[in-house]
Amino acid sequence: MKFDTKAIHIGEEPNFEHTGDVTIPLHLASTYARKEVDIPTKGHEYSRSDNPTRQALEKKLASLENADYALAFSSGLAAISTVLMALLKSGDHIIAFDDLYGGSKRLFDQIFGENFKIEISYVDATKVSNIKDAIHINTKLIWLETPTNPLLKMCDIQKISKMAIKEDLIVVVDNTFLSPFFQRPLNLGASIVLHSTTKYINGHSDSVGGCLMTRDKKLYEKLHFVQNAAGAILSPFDSFLVLRGLKTLGIRMQRHEENAKKIAKFLIKHPHVSSVIYPGLKEYAYAEIARKQCLGFGGMLSFELKASLEETKKFLEHLKLFSIAESLGGVESLVELPSIMTHASVSKEHREKIGLKDSLIRLSVGIEDVEDLLSDLKQAFKTLKSK
Ligand code: PLP
Repeated sequence: MKFDTKAIHIGEEPNFEHTGDVTIPLHLASTYARKEVDIPTKGHEYSRSDNPTRQALEKKLASLENADYALAFSSGLAAISTVLMALLKSGDHIIAFDDLYGGSKRLFDQIFGENFKIEISYVDATKVSNIKDAIHINTKLIWLETPTNPLLKMCDIQKISKMAIKEDLIVVVDNTFLSPFFQRPLNLGASIVLHSTTKYINGHSDSVGGCLMTRDKKLYEKLHFVQNAAGAILSPFDSFLVLRGLKTLGIRMQRHEENAKKIAKFLIKHPHVSSVIYPGLKEYAYAEIARKQCLGFGGMLSFELKASLEETKKFLEHLKLFSIAESLGGVESLVELPSIMTHASVSKEHREKIGLKDSLIRLSVGIEDVEDLLSDLKQAFKTLKSK
Protein backbone atom coordinates (compact mmCIF):
# COMPACT_ATOMS: atom_id res chain seq x y z
CA MET A 1 0.00 0.00 0.00
CA LYS A 2 1.32 3.48 -0.86
CA PHE A 3 1.83 6.31 1.67
CA ASP A 4 -1.35 8.32 1.03
CA THR A 5 -3.52 5.19 1.05
CA LYS A 6 -1.99 4.01 4.34
CA ALA A 7 -2.52 7.49 5.83
CA ILE A 8 -6.25 7.16 5.18
CA HIS A 9 -7.00 3.47 5.75
CA ILE A 10 -4.55 1.86 8.20
CA GLY A 11 -5.92 1.62 11.74
CA GLU A 12 -9.40 2.66 10.61
CA GLU A 13 -10.66 -0.44 8.84
CA PRO A 14 -14.49 -0.52 9.24
CA ASN A 15 -15.64 -2.82 12.05
CA PHE A 16 -18.62 -4.68 10.63
CA GLU A 17 -19.35 -6.40 13.96
CA HIS A 18 -20.47 -2.96 15.15
CA THR A 19 -21.71 -0.17 12.89
CA GLY A 20 -19.04 -0.22 10.18
CA ASP A 21 -17.91 3.39 10.95
CA VAL A 22 -15.46 4.54 8.26
CA THR A 23 -13.50 6.50 10.86
CA ILE A 24 -12.42 5.12 14.23
CA PRO A 25 -14.89 6.02 17.01
CA LEU A 26 -13.74 8.24 19.85
CA HIS A 27 -13.41 5.85 22.82
CA LEU A 28 -13.64 8.02 25.93
CA ALA A 29 -14.17 5.29 28.58
CA SER A 30 -11.40 5.33 31.18
CA THR A 31 -11.98 1.68 32.08
CA TYR A 32 -13.58 -1.48 30.62
CA ALA A 33 -16.08 -3.84 32.27
CA ARG A 34 -15.45 -7.61 32.34
CA LYS A 35 -17.89 -10.48 32.57
CA GLU A 36 -15.38 -12.68 34.38
CA VAL A 37 -12.83 -11.49 36.98
CA ASP A 38 -9.86 -13.15 35.27
CA ILE A 39 -10.63 -12.14 31.69
CA PRO A 40 -10.31 -8.53 30.48
CA THR A 41 -12.80 -7.92 27.67
CA LYS A 42 -10.88 -8.39 24.41
CA GLY A 43 -7.69 -7.66 26.42
CA HIS A 44 -8.84 -4.18 27.51
CA GLU A 45 -8.14 -3.33 31.16
CA TYR A 46 -7.70 0.42 31.63
CA SER A 47 -7.46 3.31 29.19
CA ARG A 48 -3.93 4.43 30.15
CA SER A 49 -2.69 0.99 29.10
CA ASP A 50 -4.79 0.46 25.99
CA ASN A 51 -7.25 2.82 24.41
CA PRO A 52 -8.74 1.75 21.05
CA THR A 53 -8.61 5.25 19.54
CA ARG A 54 -4.95 5.69 20.57
CA GLN A 55 -4.13 2.19 19.36
CA ALA A 56 -5.64 2.98 15.94
CA LEU A 57 -3.39 6.04 15.75
CA GLU A 58 -0.34 4.03 16.83
CA LYS A 59 -1.05 1.50 14.07
CA LYS A 60 -1.30 4.25 11.44
CA LEU A 61 1.87 6.00 12.70
CA ALA A 62 3.84 2.73 12.60
CA SER A 63 2.75 2.06 9.03
CA LEU A 64 3.75 5.54 7.82
CA GLU A 65 7.28 5.32 9.30
CA ASN A 66 7.67 1.70 8.06
CA ALA A 67 7.92 0.66 11.71
CA ASP A 68 6.55 -2.40 13.50
CA TYR A 69 5.58 -0.51 16.64
CA ALA A 70 4.43 3.00 17.59
CA LEU A 71 3.52 4.70 20.86
CA ALA A 72 1.63 8.00 21.22
CA PHE A 73 2.36 10.49 24.02
CA SER A 74 0.87 13.66 25.48
CA SER A 75 3.64 15.83 23.95
CA GLY A 76 6.85 15.54 21.97
CA LEU A 77 8.78 16.19 25.18
CA ALA A 78 6.87 13.39 26.96
CA ALA A 79 8.01 11.04 24.16
CA ILE A 80 11.62 12.27 24.57
CA SER A 81 11.47 11.83 28.38
CA THR A 82 10.16 8.29 27.88
CA VAL A 83 13.14 7.35 25.70
CA LEU A 84 15.60 8.63 28.30
CA MET A 85 13.74 7.04 31.24
CA ALA A 86 13.40 3.69 29.47
CA LEU A 87 16.90 3.32 28.06
CA LEU A 88 19.34 5.14 30.36
CA LYS A 89 20.50 5.08 33.96
CA SER A 90 22.62 7.50 36.01
CA GLY A 91 26.20 7.60 34.79
CA ASP A 92 25.31 6.80 31.15
CA HIS A 93 26.46 9.14 28.39
CA ILE A 94 24.61 10.38 25.32
CA ILE A 95 25.86 12.26 22.27
CA ALA A 96 23.46 14.85 20.87
CA PHE A 97 23.46 17.15 17.83
CA ASP A 98 24.53 20.62 19.00
CA ASP A 99 21.59 22.32 17.25
CA LEU A 100 18.39 20.91 18.81
CA TYR A 101 14.95 22.23 19.67
CA GLY A 102 15.55 24.41 22.77
CA GLY A 103 13.11 22.40 24.90
CA SER A 104 14.93 19.14 24.13
CA LYS A 105 18.24 20.67 25.21
CA ARG A 106 16.64 22.10 28.38
CA LEU A 107 15.23 18.66 29.26
CA PHE A 108 18.60 16.96 28.64
CA ASP A 109 20.66 19.51 30.61
CA GLN A 110 18.42 20.66 33.43
CA ILE A 111 16.55 17.45 34.24
CA PHE A 112 18.35 14.35 32.97
CA GLY A 113 21.80 15.96 33.29
CA GLU A 114 21.46 17.83 36.58
CA ASN A 115 19.00 15.60 38.45
CA PHE A 116 19.72 12.14 37.07
CA LYS A 117 23.44 12.47 36.24
CA ILE A 118 23.19 11.53 32.57
CA GLU A 119 26.30 12.88 30.78
CA ILE A 120 25.63 14.73 27.53
CA SER A 121 28.09 15.76 24.80
CA TYR A 122 26.85 18.14 22.12
CA VAL A 123 28.63 17.78 18.79
CA ASP A 124 28.27 19.04 15.25
CA ALA A 125 26.75 15.83 13.87
CA THR A 126 27.09 17.01 10.26
CA LYS A 127 30.48 15.22 10.46
CA VAL A 128 30.28 11.55 11.52
CA SER A 129 33.86 11.78 12.85
CA ASN A 130 32.71 14.32 15.48
CA ILE A 131 30.28 11.72 16.85
CA LYS A 132 32.87 8.96 16.71
CA ASP A 133 35.38 11.08 18.62
CA ALA A 134 32.81 11.77 21.37
CA ILE A 135 32.09 8.07 22.11
CA HIS A 136 33.12 7.02 25.63
CA ILE A 137 32.98 3.68 27.41
CA ASN A 138 29.62 4.71 28.98
CA THR A 139 27.98 6.04 25.76
CA LYS A 140 24.58 4.46 25.16
CA LEU A 141 22.73 6.61 22.70
CA ILE A 142 23.05 9.14 19.86
CA TRP A 143 20.35 11.81 19.64
CA LEU A 144 19.80 13.42 16.25
CA GLU A 145 17.48 16.00 14.79
CA THR A 146 17.72 16.33 11.02
CA PRO A 147 17.06 18.91 9.70
CA THR A 148 17.75 20.71 12.98
CA ASN A 149 15.63 23.37 14.60
CA PRO A 150 16.24 26.23 13.69
CA LEU A 151 19.46 26.13 11.61
CA LEU A 152 18.24 23.29 9.36
CA LYS A 153 21.55 21.46 9.54
CA MET A 154 21.47 17.88 8.25
CA CYS A 155 23.39 14.81 9.28
CA ASP A 156 23.81 11.51 7.45
CA ILE A 157 21.47 9.09 9.25
CA GLN A 158 22.72 6.07 7.29
CA LYS A 159 26.42 6.64 7.97
CA ILE A 160 25.84 7.45 11.64
CA SER A 161 23.59 4.39 12.12
CA LYS A 162 26.14 2.08 10.48
CA MET A 163 28.84 3.35 12.82
CA ALA A 164 26.47 3.17 15.82
CA ILE A 165 25.58 -0.49 15.18
CA LYS A 166 29.27 -1.42 15.34
CA GLU A 167 29.56 0.43 18.66
CA ASP A 168 26.31 -1.07 19.99
CA LEU A 169 24.67 2.36 20.35
CA ILE A 170 21.01 3.31 19.93
CA VAL A 171 20.26 6.03 17.34
CA VAL A 172 17.20 8.22 17.92
CA VAL A 173 16.09 10.58 15.14
CA ASP A 174 13.68 13.43 15.78
CA ASN A 175 11.89 13.50 12.41
CA THR A 176 9.51 16.36 13.31
CA PHE A 177 10.67 18.79 10.60
CA LEU A 178 10.22 16.55 7.54
CA SER A 179 7.56 14.04 8.69
CA PRO A 180 7.56 10.47 7.32
CA PHE A 181 6.30 11.83 4.01
CA PHE A 182 9.75 13.31 3.28
CA GLN A 183 12.11 11.22 5.44
CA ARG A 184 12.01 7.65 6.89
CA PRO A 185 14.93 7.27 9.31
CA LEU A 186 14.19 3.60 10.14
CA ASN A 187 14.82 2.72 6.48
CA LEU A 188 18.25 4.36 6.91
CA GLY A 189 19.15 2.29 9.98
CA ALA A 190 17.96 4.44 12.91
CA SER A 191 16.73 2.54 16.00
CA ILE A 192 13.91 4.90 17.07
CA VAL A 193 12.06 7.74 15.32
CA LEU A 194 10.39 10.51 17.26
CA HIS A 195 7.89 13.22 16.36
CA SER A 196 6.27 16.09 18.06
CA THR A 197 2.85 15.24 16.54
CA THR A 198 1.90 18.79 17.51
CA LYS A 199 3.55 19.80 14.22
CA TYR A 200 3.10 18.34 10.69
CA ILE A 201 1.66 14.98 11.81
CA ASN A 202 -1.46 16.62 13.24
CA GLY A 203 -1.02 19.68 11.06
CA HIS A 204 -3.83 21.90 12.33
CA SER A 205 -2.35 23.53 15.46
CA ASP A 206 -5.08 22.14 17.69
CA SER A 207 -3.40 19.28 19.55
CA VAL A 208 -0.15 18.80 21.50
CA GLY A 209 1.34 15.31 21.26
CA GLY A 210 4.33 13.13 20.48
CA CYS A 211 5.16 9.65 19.25
CA LEU A 212 7.91 7.03 19.04
CA MET A 213 8.34 4.39 16.36
CA THR A 214 10.69 1.41 16.13
CA ARG A 215 11.17 -2.00 14.50
CA ASP A 216 13.03 -3.40 17.50
CA LYS A 217 10.76 -5.50 19.74
CA LYS A 218 13.03 -5.24 22.79
CA LEU A 219 13.24 -1.44 22.52
CA TYR A 220 9.48 -1.27 22.02
CA GLU A 221 8.83 -3.35 25.13
CA LYS A 222 11.03 -1.05 27.24
CA LEU A 223 9.38 2.10 25.83
CA HIS A 224 5.89 0.62 26.18
CA PHE A 225 6.56 -0.28 29.81
CA VAL A 226 7.49 3.34 30.61
CA GLN A 227 4.59 4.72 28.56
CA ASN A 228 2.23 2.82 30.84
CA ALA A 229 4.25 3.10 34.06
CA ALA A 230 4.98 6.84 33.80
CA GLY A 231 1.66 7.48 32.06
CA ALA A 232 2.28 10.37 29.63
CA ILE A 233 -0.21 8.98 27.09
CA LEU A 234 -2.02 10.86 24.32
CA SER A 235 -5.68 11.40 25.22
CA PRO A 236 -8.43 9.72 23.16
CA PHE A 237 -9.65 13.06 21.81
CA ASP A 238 -6.15 14.14 20.75
CA SER A 239 -5.63 10.71 19.19
CA PHE A 240 -8.84 11.25 17.21
CA LEU A 241 -7.65 14.68 16.03
CA VAL A 242 -4.23 13.35 15.00
CA LEU A 243 -5.85 10.44 13.13
CA ARG A 244 -7.92 12.99 11.23
CA GLY A 245 -4.95 15.28 10.56
CA LEU A 246 -2.77 12.42 9.32
CA LYS A 247 -5.11 11.59 6.45
CA THR A 248 -3.97 14.69 4.56
CA LEU A 249 -0.29 14.60 5.58
CA GLY A 250 0.91 13.81 2.06
CA ILE A 251 -0.97 16.56 0.24
CA ARG A 252 -0.23 19.05 3.01
CA MET A 253 3.52 18.33 2.89
CA GLN A 254 3.58 18.74 -0.89
CA ARG A 255 1.92 22.13 -0.61
CA HIS A 256 4.12 23.22 2.35
CA GLU A 257 7.16 22.41 0.23
CA GLU A 258 5.86 24.06 -2.93
CA ASN A 259 5.17 27.30 -1.00
CA ALA A 260 8.44 27.19 0.98
CA LYS A 261 10.50 26.78 -2.22
CA LYS A 262 8.84 29.81 -3.82
CA ILE A 263 9.33 31.90 -0.67
CA ALA A 264 12.99 30.80 -0.29
CA LYS A 265 13.68 31.79 -3.91
CA PHE A 266 11.98 35.15 -3.39
CA LEU A 267 13.89 35.85 -0.16
CA ILE A 268 17.34 34.92 -1.42
CA LYS A 269 17.12 37.55 -4.16
CA HIS A 270 15.72 40.26 -1.91
CA PRO A 271 18.05 43.22 -1.21
CA HIS A 272 17.05 43.32 2.48
CA VAL A 273 17.97 39.65 3.06
CA SER A 274 21.51 38.62 3.95
CA SER A 275 21.06 34.80 4.05
CA VAL A 276 18.44 32.10 3.60
CA ILE A 277 18.64 28.50 4.83
CA TYR A 278 16.30 26.11 3.01
CA PRO A 279 17.20 22.52 2.06
CA GLY A 280 15.64 22.91 -1.39
CA LEU A 281 17.93 25.80 -2.44
CA LYS A 282 21.03 25.07 -4.49
CA GLU A 283 22.99 27.25 -2.02
CA TYR A 284 22.05 24.90 0.88
CA ALA A 285 25.18 23.72 2.74
CA TYR A 286 24.06 20.08 3.11
CA ALA A 287 22.52 19.63 -0.34
CA GLU A 288 24.32 16.33 -0.93
CA ILE A 289 22.90 14.71 2.25
CA ALA A 290 19.47 16.21 1.52
CA ARG A 291 19.39 14.69 -1.97
CA LYS A 292 20.51 11.32 -0.63
CA GLN A 293 18.25 10.86 2.38
CA CYS A 294 15.19 13.06 1.94
CA LEU A 295 12.22 12.58 -0.34
CA GLY A 296 11.53 16.33 -0.20
CA PHE A 297 12.64 19.46 1.62
CA GLY A 298 9.67 20.47 3.75
CA GLY A 299 8.10 23.75 4.75
CA MET A 300 10.60 25.20 7.24
CA LEU A 301 13.09 27.92 6.41
CA SER A 302 15.26 30.38 8.30
CA PHE A 303 16.67 33.69 7.13
CA GLU A 304 18.35 36.88 8.26
CA LEU A 305 17.74 40.48 7.32
CA LYS A 306 20.34 43.15 6.73
CA ALA A 307 18.84 44.91 9.75
CA SER A 308 19.27 45.41 13.48
CA LEU A 309 17.44 43.20 15.98
CA GLU A 310 14.97 46.02 16.65
CA GLU A 311 14.23 46.44 12.92
CA THR A 312 13.87 42.67 12.58
CA LYS A 313 11.28 42.62 15.39
CA LYS A 314 9.36 45.44 13.65
CA PHE A 315 9.45 43.45 10.39
CA LEU A 316 7.80 40.50 12.15
CA GLU A 317 5.22 42.74 13.77
CA HIS A 318 4.22 44.14 10.36
CA LEU A 319 3.44 40.71 8.93
CA LYS A 320 -0.30 40.08 8.72
CA LEU A 321 -0.75 36.50 7.48
CA PHE A 322 2.33 35.05 9.19
CA SER A 323 1.37 34.97 12.90
CA ILE A 324 4.19 35.56 15.38
CA ALA A 325 4.01 32.30 17.28
CA GLU A 326 6.04 29.35 18.53
CA SER A 327 5.41 25.88 17.04
CA LEU A 328 5.38 24.89 13.38
CA GLY A 329 3.89 22.50 10.86
CA GLY A 330 0.29 23.74 10.90
CA VAL A 331 -1.70 24.73 7.82
CA GLU A 332 -1.29 28.40 8.76
CA SER A 333 2.01 30.26 8.29
CA LEU A 334 3.97 31.19 11.42
CA VAL A 335 7.02 33.34 12.04
CA GLU A 336 9.28 33.60 15.09
CA LEU A 337 12.66 34.70 16.42
CA PRO A 338 14.23 31.53 17.93
CA SER A 339 16.67 33.49 20.14
CA ILE A 340 13.75 35.17 21.95
CA MET A 341 11.08 32.50 21.60
CA THR A 342 11.63 28.73 20.96
CA HIS A 343 15.34 28.77 21.87
CA ALA A 344 15.33 31.33 24.68
CA SER A 345 16.24 28.57 27.16
CA VAL A 346 19.48 27.87 25.22
CA SER A 347 22.34 29.98 26.66
CA LYS A 348 23.62 32.88 24.54
CA GLU A 349 27.05 31.28 24.71
CA HIS A 350 25.78 28.01 23.16
CA ARG A 351 23.74 29.91 20.56
CA GLU A 352 26.84 31.85 19.53
CA LYS A 353 28.90 28.66 19.40
CA ILE A 354 26.52 26.99 16.92
CA GLY A 355 25.95 30.16 14.87
CA LEU A 356 22.37 30.88 15.97
CA LYS A 357 22.22 34.67 15.67
CA ASP A 358 19.77 36.75 17.73
CA SER A 359 18.15 38.11 14.58
CA LEU A 360 17.62 34.76 12.80
CA ILE A 361 13.98 34.52 11.63
CA ARG A 362 12.28 31.12 11.36
CA LEU A 363 9.29 30.62 9.07
CA SER A 364 6.86 27.74 9.16
CA VAL A 365 5.37 28.15 5.70
CA GLY A 366 1.71 27.16 5.64
CA ILE A 367 -0.50 25.94 2.83
CA GLU A 368 -2.26 29.23 2.05
CA ASP A 369 -2.11 30.63 -1.51
CA VAL A 370 1.57 31.47 -1.92
CA GLU A 371 0.77 34.73 -3.75
CA ASP A 372 -0.88 36.01 -0.56
CA LEU A 373 2.13 34.94 1.52
CA LEU A 374 4.53 36.70 -0.87
CA SER A 375 2.40 39.86 -0.81
CA ASP A 376 2.48 39.81 2.98
CA LEU A 377 6.28 39.57 3.02
CA LYS A 378 6.56 42.33 0.38
CA GLN A 379 4.43 44.76 2.38
CA ALA A 380 6.47 44.05 5.54
CA PHE A 381 9.73 44.65 3.64
CA LYS A 382 8.45 48.11 2.69
CA THR A 383 8.64 49.07 6.37
CA LEU A 384 12.44 48.57 6.38
CA LYS A 385 14.79 51.43 5.40
CA SER A 386 15.80 51.08 1.72
CA LYS A 387 19.17 49.39 1.08
N1 PLP B 1 11.17 18.21 18.62
C1 PLP B 1 11.15 19.30 17.83
C2 PLP B 1 12.02 19.33 16.60
C3 PLP B 1 10.36 20.39 18.15
O1 PLP B 1 10.35 21.47 17.36
C4 PLP B 1 9.55 20.33 19.32
C5 PLP B 1 8.69 21.46 19.70
O2 PLP B 1 8.73 22.52 19.13
C6 PLP B 1 9.61 19.18 20.12
C7 PLP B 1 10.42 18.13 19.73
C8 PLP B 1 8.79 19.08 21.39
O3 PLP B 1 7.48 18.80 21.08
P1 PLP B 1 6.22 19.26 21.99
O4 PLP B 1 6.17 20.76 21.92
O5 PLP B 1 5.07 18.59 21.32
O6 PLP B 1 6.48 18.77 23.36
